Amino acid sequence: MTDEDIRIGVFVCHCGTNIGGVLDVPSLAEYAKTLPNVTYSADNLYTCSEVGLTEIKENIKEHELNRVIVASCSPRTHEPLFRAICQEAGLNPYLFEMVNIRDQDSWVHMKEPEKGTIKAKDLIRMSVHKAALLEPLERIKVSITPSAIVIGGGIAGMTAALNLGNQGFEVSLIEKEKELGGLLRSLNKVYPSNEDASKLLETLDLIESHEKIKVYKSSVIEKVDGFIGNYKISVKQNDKTIEIDAGVIIIATGAIPLTPDGLYGYNKKNIISQLDLEKLLKADQISSNNITMILCVGCRNEVRKYCSNICCMTAMKNAMLIKEKNPNAHITILFQDIQASGTVYEKYYRKAREMSILFIKYLPEKPPIIKKGVVKVYSDSLNQEIEIPQDLVVLSTPLIANEDSDKLAKMLKVPLEENNFFLEAHVKLRPVDFATDGIFMCGSAHWPADIAESTSQANAAASRASRILWKDTLEVEGSTAEVIEELCIGCEACIKICPYKAITKDEITDTAIVNKVVCKGCGLCGASCPKKAIIIHHFTGDQIRAEIFAYGGGV
Ligand code: SF4
Ligand code: SF4
Repeated sequence: MTDEDIRIGVFVCHCGTNIGGVLDVPSLAEYAKTLPNVTYSADNLYTCSEVGLTEIKENIKEHELNRVIVASCSPRTHEPLFRAICQEAGLNPYLFEMVNIRDQDSWVHMKEPEKGTIKAKDLIRMSVHKAALLEPLERIKVSITPSAIVIGGGIAGMTAALNLGNQGFEVSLIEKEKELGGLLRSLNKVYPSNEDASKLLETLDLIESHEKIKVYKSSVIEKVDGFIGNYKISVKQNDKTIEIDAGVIIIATGAIPLTPDGLYGYNKKNIISQLDLEKLLKADQISSNNITMILCVGCRNEVRKYCSNICCMTAMKNAMLIKEKNPNAHITILFQDIQASGTVYEKYYRKAREMSILFIKYLPEKPPIIKKGVVKVYSDSLNQEIEIPQDLVVLSTPLIANEDSDKLAKMLKVPLEENNFFLEAHVKLRPVDFATDGIFMCGSAHWPADIAESTSQANAAASRASRILWKDTLEVEGSTAEVIEELCIGCEACIKICPYKAITKDEITDTAIVNKVVCKGCGLCGASCPKKAIIIHHFTGDQIRAEIFAYGGGV
């Protein structure tokens, strides 16, 4: 296409007073008319309104525009809308360019509107120069295998599997142990309802008899290939290997309670863990009258800095259960801080105090000392050491990540955080997603979670996954990376830096290849390639140079 054939339309938005109250918007539209290849330009009160969008469509047709620029708010929120409008008017959506003159201009230069207007002119001029070099791009369509793999058969995995199965999707539930149920099998009762854990295990029957759910017990994941909509997983079950296809994967591998070996004389007579206590309570074998529970054993220290989230409530639950059976029991809980967030858990904590369970705060630098028949602890609030008679000491330890998390994370190409729990894409905006599309997580695989949290996360993950599974095909981003084979020397710099693991090496040509379905067009590989062998479509070297030139050199 020659310069004469390029017809750019520029639409400058007031965004009410957001932009219009600061910048001289009509003068920006007038300025745009003076720029090369601009055939039409106008200002609108709200470009994203029905009126504004109709105006874009009509002017594309009337002025035969083949490039459109909207100077307005953030592409993060509005680019998809404007691209869709261009497409409706018959224009390739990648022939659209957006200039952010609100968040990056009028909002930050409110007190210097003249300078803000000059900056907006610079930004629009840069965009016009880039727009002239834009190329039409195609979004790739991927077919979706309408089934899911859930890894881990504890409460989170079972809930996610049941949710998806009930929606009518085929689910393969992979459990490494001989039975489903995970940690739930070791528990006596669950807080805050204090109902029997075995009651929750009734879900097992629903799962094992569900026509849409296939359970693979004593099975481990051996290999994962593919991408969103088209995963292929090899599962080893005893000595046979099973291949499973699925559109999405949910990780629900849970966590394990730390055994307090070497801490506070664990395993000596009458020094047990909270998990041991659960088993004794389940078997109705608790007869001690003086019980001291020590919280934060093996965590919130140099080795494990984190709070395990569930131990305070578990200790309170077990203390109350003992008190209900034996009102004469003296139970003391030694804590560093109490984690009982929300009104329900706060009420539970108050109830424990009303039942005369004693709570004493200890300082991490002065931990309790267990002697024969007593626990000695320094109370900061009383400023003195207290001796508490004991005939049973219970240690509350944290949940820690599964040993095989690292191996699974590598196979799935998803990240772990510093304690080896799986790391979400965004703590607030995408809490059960990975950055890699099509893989989700829930329960304690992500972070120590109780039953209520695990089940709500499992339903969230299943619901996120079903958004993909309900579709026959998925359209993925057209603005991706491409390797020029002739220039690539196979150094693998791009493979190492790609955060989405979208690049592999072609065994035959010994050069890098990009999986366009997985690539997000972030540009990291392009910036890292020593041979300039990577084109980032929609952000090519020529396009970015044109913008820089337009800024420095003007028109
Ligand atoms: Fe090839 Fe460049 Fe990747 Fe190296 S960084 S493998 S040269 S594309
Ligand atoms: Fe990976 Fe980003 Fe390069 Fe795509 S553009 S291959 S996501 S580094």
